[in-house]
Amino acid sequence: MITQKPMYEGKAKQVFATENPDELMVYFKDDATAFNGEKRGTIDNKGVFNNKISTFFFNLLGKEGIPHHFIKMLSEREMLVKKLAILPVEVVVRNIAAGSLAKRIGWEEGRKLPTAIIELYYKDDELGDPLINDYHIQALGLATPAQVETMEKYALRINEILAAFLKDKKVELIDFKLEFGVHKGEVLLGDEISPDTCRFWDSETGQKLDKDRFRRDLGNVEEAYREVLKRLTGEKS
Ligand code: ADP
Ligand code: UDP
Repeated sequence: MITQKPMYEGKAKQVFATENPDELMVYFKDDATAFNGEKRGTIDNKGVFNNKISTFFFNLLGKEGIPHHFIKMLSEREMLVKKLAILPVEVVVRNIAAGSLAKRIGWEEGRKLPTAIIELYYKDDELGDPLINDYHIQALGLATPAQVETMEKYALRINEILAAFLKDKKVELIDFKLEFGVHKGEVLLGDEISPDTCRFWDSETGQKLDKDRFRRDLGNVEEAYREVLKRLTGEKS
């Protein structure tokens, strides 16, 4: 079904062309990077957990009317998706100050934001994904005003859906990053939604259940990813 060589190899996934020009196969690796690729390592079984967790979230969001690229899971590490022209804008939504925002505005990590914040970053590894705004997007021609409006509308709705769902699973949704792309003229949610791209904290203990365990050398990284999958689906691996 797939050609041998990936058409793209990223930090966490490989992307393969398929026989259908409108579809791609995404392979989830165990490779982990942080701080713009400066820190590298592997997290055992991360690819399996992220594929299953992303599959779960795409299905959940699809039922709630969010258009996305996910077609089906092909294997434990492989997902079939609609081919997108990725818009080079990373959309971050935040409910609680953490990571780069906590540093930038001088708030302690864990302080609740009065309202959700959307941030836009230019998806460019060489530049280190800088923070940008609508004016930069228009000046650089990264997306049209209508596309930005659609991404922001979906991002806020996704935040509502995920935060409410996770609350029931005793997980607090701190922040997350989304990528969107265009397929047959329509803006669809792409990439992945996983502990690599979200901050999840246990609602009762505050324990981090995401990639910050790798970034900050907190230990039990694989266990955290496994725990997220278990809370979502009851599945243990
Ligand atoms: P990175 O490129 O940041 O190292 P990954 O290792 O996750 O990230 O690589 C996956 C790449 O595939 C990303 O660049 C992402 O934008 C891209 N991508 C995700 N979903 C799709 C899709 N449906 N169509 C085309 N490209 C996609
Ligand atoms: N994020 C991501 N990819 C990036 C940058 C950020 O998935 O290239 C996610 C990150 O996991 C977190 C949110 O976006 O859930 C906000 O990240 P932040 O800006 O705080 O950056 P960090 O301090 O994690 O580098």
